[in-house]
Amino acid sequence: MIYAGSHISSAGGYAAMGKKIRSLGGDTFAFFTRNPRGGRAKPIVREDVELFLDMAREDGLGPVVAHAPYTMNVCGAREEVRSFGAETMADDLKRLEYTPGNYYNFHPGCHVGQGKEEGIRLIAGALNQVLREGQRTVVLLETMAGKGSEIGGRFEELREILDRVELSGRMGVCLDTCHVWDAGYDIVSDLDGVLAEFDRVIGLSRLKALHVNDSKNPLGSHKDRHARLGEGYIGKEAFKRIVSHPALQGLPFILETPNDDAGWAEEIAFLKSACTEVV
Ligand code: FE
Ligand code: FE
Ligand code: ZN
Repeated sequence: MIYAGSHISSAGGYAAMGKKIRSLGGDTFAFFTRNPRGGRAKPIVREDVELFLDMAREDGLGPVVAHAPYTMNVCGAREEVRSFGAETMADDLKRLEYTPGNYYNFHPGCHVGQGKEEGIRLIAGALNQVLREGQRTVVLLETMAGKGSEIGGRFEELREILDRVELSGRMGVCLDTCHVWDAGYDIVSDLDGVLAEFDRVIGLSRLKALHVNDSKNPLGSHKDRHARLGEGYIGKEAFKRIVSHPALQGLPFILETPNDDAGWAEEIAFLKSACTEVV
């Protein structure tokens, strides 16, 4: 059994997101905590949050995965960029305490010429600055395609970040299928091998969510261009094996495919029906 859903707009608030994902046949979703290009977040409305929490309980929604703005770069070269990133993260985490028990996923960042070592040091530093004891949201590092100076294209890099975070019990990883494929991990012909490698380097207990995207580019291309399921190099057969893999049961599977509502509803139905593993 898996939870399946898509990335949806947060414009109408939490209860609207819950309703929306139900209408698409899903039982989890992802959303941007604020405009993806940064900027101010909408205020939390208590009644909206209560309505959502009731709905989530009654409808058996799985954990949801908030996504940090993708422009946030806590390891940028300029101090303003880094402190803006850390402030955004701290504010997002504060707001997510209204909906405890969910995930906050972010792109580790781009070291922009400072080198991987320095990038990793800065990312861990930002996390040590914003993570709080007793915080009820688990922060997820996303696996990246390794495009440009992106950090997180290798499992070892994520491991190094986790090793340097003091409250690392509040941390996990979100595996993006398009990104790991583009990074060179062959989830099509060797899914078991890739998951074994993930387990050896990071530990499968850290894996809390997946982004399910096909890729417009071949293995190891370091491009990061998402495709609809079955319309890229990964292909539907591989996605059937992924959703049915025993090590991935019970996790939220989030679509970030270039699609519309009808398309996402179809993809959610596909993921649900393709999962042959019953827990
Ligand atoms: Fe992402
Ligand atoms: Fe992603
Ligand atoms: Zn991507």
